[in-house]
Amino acid sequence: MPKRKRIKKRRIKKTIIILIILFVLCFCGYLFYKHKYDYTFKFKKEVIVNIDEKVDSKDYVLEVKNVTVKYPDVDTSTPGVKKIIYTVTDRSKKKHTYTLKLEVKDNIAPNIDAKDSVDVYVGDKVDLNSYIKVSDNVDSNLDVSYDKELDTSKEGNYTITFTVKDKSNNKSIHKITFNVKKKPIADITDLPDGIVGKTSKGYTIENKGGATYVDNILIANKTYVLSSKYGNGLTNETQYAFNEMKKDALAAGFDIRIGSGFRSYSSQKTIYNNYVKRDGQAKADTYSARAGHSEHQTGLAIDICASGYNCITSSFNGTPPANWLSENAYKYGFILRYPEGKTNETGYKFESWHFRYVGKDLASKVYNGGDWITLEAFYGITSEYN
Ligand SMILES: [Zn+2]
Repeated sequence: MPKRKRIKKRRIKKTIIILIILFVLCFCGYLFYKHKYDYTFKFKKEVIVNIDEKVDSKDYVLEVKNVTVKYPDVDTSTPGVKKIIYTVTDRSKKKHTYTLKLEVKDNIAPNIDAKDSVDVYVGDKVDLNSYIKVSDNVDSNLDVSYDKELDTSKEGNYTITFTVKDKSNNKSIHKITFNVKKKPIADITDLPDGIVGKTSKGYTIENKGGATYVDNILIANKTYVLSSKYGNGLTNETQYAFNEMKKDALAAGFDIRIGSGFRSYSSQKTIYNNYVKRDGQAKADTYSARAGHSEHQTGLAIDICASGYNCITSSFNGTPPANWLSENAYKYGFILRYPEGKTNETGYKFESWHFRYVGKDLASKVYNGGDWITLEAFYGITSEYN
């Protein structure tokens, strides 16, 4: 073999050995690296759960190799998108972090605390929101709506549907039936003594002994009331004045008598309630007084009847005895209390039979030469239920 060829062969051999050594070194290096740094950590990247759902961050990890993992706690008590961060330590003690997107959804509807049926009164101002209590696991500001407003202008049963929504659009529905009832009129038991004020004409209004006085004249009408304890029969002056008038009426050819005199609070209450049952409250209020508002409770008012004529009815209006009373009653201290055409002042229709004792001085002023004026106009006061 020539010398040159031998040298070439040796070089090739040497090169191969070096390559083998390099390969072995690389392989060893690879094995070393793989042992020290290689690891696997696979997990779900996005997860949706319900609010307050019990969740373990371990459950979303799919594969783990050659690392230690610190599993974070997961708070699902509030809704929204949260970052769950896993800290992974490999065998070289190097730390790596991985973030899971966790969406917590509120799927719980708001809670409604309310009655199914509620009693309210005609004319009440009703705030519908005050009849339901709402709460929610998450939201403090809830959207409350109802299908219609409540009309309390008349009696009846009305069902209203309430809808309550939270921010995640979970909703609850509740129905309340409102029973709109007529308001019972409370008994007037207390009317404390003292000056109440002045009338539009400057007269003093004062409460004394359960009644109201204007310029020291007792007033009972739709505005001014008597306490339930007030009154115990016709007053002596009233009875005496009537007796005088009766004598003179008889001389004029009219046999008059008292058809209705004193009426107590409780008897007026019964009378009025019966009229309301028959005609309804609005109509009853035009001709009958509510308890405490009747002038008959004062002991100063009388309904006068005459023999041979219908008693305490509009057919008495314009009859000879009615005309005689209208022309002469003031001379005995009586006034025609509810004259014709003065309903808007007195609050009552014309009653030709109803007279009120006020004493001769005031009676002749109110008689007004035959053109009766009302106590309301005379003193500048109203007669309206409030
Ligand atoms: Zn009367």
